[in-house]
Amino acid sequence: MLKVKQLKIKGFETVVVGKDSSADFHAIIAVHSTQLGPSLGGIRMWPYRNETEGLQDVLRLATAMTKKAAISGLPMGGGKAVIIGDPAKDKTRNLFLSMGELIETLHGKYIAAKDSGILPEDLDIVSEKTRHVTGSTNKQGGSGDPSLATAKGVLAGMQAACKFVFGTKCLKGRVVAIQGIGQVGWNLGNLLFQQGAKLFVVDLQPSRVKQAQRSWTASVVPLFEIHQVPADIFAPCALGGILNADTIPHLRANIVAGGANNQFLDEEQDPFRLMKRNILHVPDYVLNAGGLIHLFVREILHQRRVAPWILNIQRTVHQVLAASLQEQLPPLVVANRMAFQKLEFH
Ligand code: NAD
Repeated sequence: MLKVKQLKIKGFETVVVGKDSSADFHAIIAVHSTQLGPSLGGIRMWPYRNETEGLQDVLRLATAMTKKAAISGLPMGGGKAVIIGDPAKDKTRNLFLSMGELIETLHGKYIAAKDSGILPEDLDIVSEKTRHVTGSTNKQGGSGDPSLATAKGVLAGMQAACKFVFGTKCLKGRVVAIQGIGQVGWNLGNLLFQQGAKLFVVDLQPSRVKQAQRSWTASVVPLFEIHQVPADIFAPCALGGILNADTIPHLRANIVAGGANNQFLDEEQDPFRLMKRNILHVPDYVLNAGGLIHLFVREILHQRRVAPWILNIQRTVHQVLAASLQEQLPPLVVANRMAFQKLEFH
């Protein structure tokens, strides 16, 4: 039986922990804000060492979703969920049914989607217990995996950043180092390859790396060295925290622009460290909003044409970078201010 515990956490509207020992289920949902609308955000499945680690991740991810929706001009709030477990080993039908039950306890305040470790087919099972799910398979009435839309948004934002730094949007011949070639990274790699970029890649899964070598003649970098590649663009597309006091001194890219959420380990200090090194960072939640936009347009608005919405990312990236240059503040600081202004003036 599902047991639900409420946690009181300053700055968050609702945080619930769900456990069902008969299903080996242990998950947390964090709703950061529903000020602009119901919160929409993915479920991440990851083998967190304990609940505290999962809680820390879900709180950061949920906060980023509030900012992502606000800066993208969507009438949605920010929320996120994590399931503590290994997606390669621990997925069961009962686990996802329990996830559906937990979502249902929030009565639509949190609308689920996929994040790392989750597939549309998993969301099909979740949707047997709750209708507050987006991104399930077409067969189940959903709009499927939004990762391609995310990658298209990242590409659009990268072009805006290139225009800013190199004076041209053109990606032909640009060297891009991608960390993590999962669903976002893989789609991004394909798009960059089509644009004529030269790719360096790494992933924890050797099969993905081999596929990238074959498909894009990508160069493979040892794990934990991808940030040191002398590239035009470093594109983090794995999990968070890759930009930190240890890695920033070794970065050799002109631009950091990737799909991963929460790229800075320390959001107070690290954006300034990067700026001091004269490396341009495109804030992750501005750049990777394509998936959220896709789900909003297709499943909340019930419209089909997502592309013009995704192109807006280019305009937002330009606004953020221009203000950052003018004010001599890191792009993340400027983007945070722009996002919170939208919340304040709502
Ligand atoms: P995914 O699980 O499909 O891919 C992540 C990949 O990163 C995996 O292949 C994994 O093996 C690899 N990886 C993990 N740690 C690594 C490391 N240290 N070095 C190299 N590779 C590593 O997940 P995804 O859906 O592609 O999401 C990737 C990132 O993008 C996450 O941070 C997610 O929150 C963010 N994001 C995803 C979407 C989306 O539409 N899927 C939308 C917005 C943001």
